[in-house]
Amino acid sequence: MGWAIYCRISKDQKGEGHGVDRQENDCRKFASLHNLEVVDVYTDNDISAFSGATRPAYEQMMQAAKDGQLEGIICWHIDRLYRRSVDLENLVEIVETTGVEVRTVKAGDLDLNTATGRMMARMVATIANYEVDHMTERLKASEEQRAMQGKWRGGYVPHGYRNIKGEGRLEINENEAQWLRRATDLLLEGHSLRSVVKSLNAEGSLTNHGNQWRSVTLRNALLNPTIAGFSTHKKKIVGKAQWPAILEENKWHQIRALLTDPARRTQQGTDRKWQGAGVYRCGKCGGKLYSMGAYGGKRSYMCRECGGVHRSQQPLDALVDRVVIGYLSKPENQITLASKADPKGPDLPKLKNERLQLLSRKTSLGELFGAGVIDRSQLVAGTREVEDALKKLDRKISDISATHPGLALVLNSDDVAAAWGGLSADNRAEVIDMLMTVTVMPGKRGPKFDPELIKIEWK
Ligand SMILES: [Zn+2]
Repeated sequence: MGWAIYCRISKDQKGEGHGVDRQENDCRKFASLHNLEVVDVYTDNDISAFSGATRPAYEQMMQAAKDGQLEGIICWHIDRLYRRSVDLENLVEIVETTGVEVRTVKAGDLDLNTATGRMMARMVATIANYEVDHMTERLKASEEQRAMQGKWRGGYVPHGYRNIKGEGRLEINENEAQWLRRATDLLLEGHSLRSVVKSLNAEGSLTNHGNQWRSVTLRNALLNPTIAGFSTHKKKIVGKAQWPAILEENKWHQIRALLTDPARRTQQGTDRKWQGAGVYRCGKCGGKLYSMGAYGGKRSYMCRECGGVHRSQQPLDALVDRVVIGYLSKPENQITLASKADPKGPDLPKLKNERLQLLSRKTSLGELFGAGVIDRSQLVAGTREVEDALKKLDRKISDISATHPGLALVLNSDDVAAAWGGLSADNRAEVIDMLMTVTVMPGKRGPKFDPELIKIEWK
């Protein structure tokens, strides 16, 4: 037993709530707000209730109600359930015999068990039809029009802006905007959302409501198309705004890709502090190692499953770092890593390969000039060409690896060790996990670290 959502599109109606998605969405929100368990959604498409045509989903739902399978029905508006009085009487009969409840998002609950309730239902339907069809429709249209012209329509002023009252436009609040730009850069460099929030708060940045930043407020602020100079209507981009952008369009697309990556979202809660947590393995039981509090003054990794393995964090991480940096210092291994990160498309490894070729062309230009094969103007022109190509390539690599922010850094860098050092623990963990299995073998008790007891297998 549970609640059914009923949605219907009708040709003769173009107002708010026209789309089935919107109807269902609003009904679901309503259900969760009122703690109603939704067990089924019934949708009839494009059949006018006036024409008397059958509504298969509606009939099915009514059958389910008669069979005692439904506690109640939720619909966006009662005009979705019936238009003709005969339909209403039908509904009344089912309500009376089954005790099924009817709730609507727009017109409240319908108590069809009483004469007054039934009369109300009829009146509400009449009045609301008028409203839905005419009044709201006109309002929405003008609002949409303004949005399409890129005008600010009032309401909640987004972070980084100030509303110029009466002029229908926004101006940048530089004081706030600079923090959004900084947060974007940090995120694109591979820092976790949480660590960026922490540093904004530590540096005294506040939201436009004067509050401390939280992950969700920062994420929403950066995802808002307004800051890239887009005008929106019903959360969709409808045009170029008349106000200036805080973030360059390209950069905004990058940050949006990064923040909406589903892989990232699941990681948000963990904000890893130690690269091996949940990555390194226990040599005794195969379980994952996690970071433990300071043990004898030193932080360590420990197997949570069997407790049989316990190792100092610092020398273990340092060993793994050395191995990874050594491995990635070879260009061909960077290509291997790229293909592991992007197994579906050959793009990333191919681009990485092109990048290496460009670098070597740059080097050879210098050699050719040194050997007197080309003259200075040829060297300058050639170098500029290579550098332009490199820039383009780096942008492409960043775009593709936006979902793996750590990788972008390593792959775009000419100094692997430095890039590795600059990665967050989260990003290092991702790369380590892609490349190898690190197993910590049980050893003698004591603080001594023995590299022989660390088994590294390439994946
Ligand atoms: Zn274990």
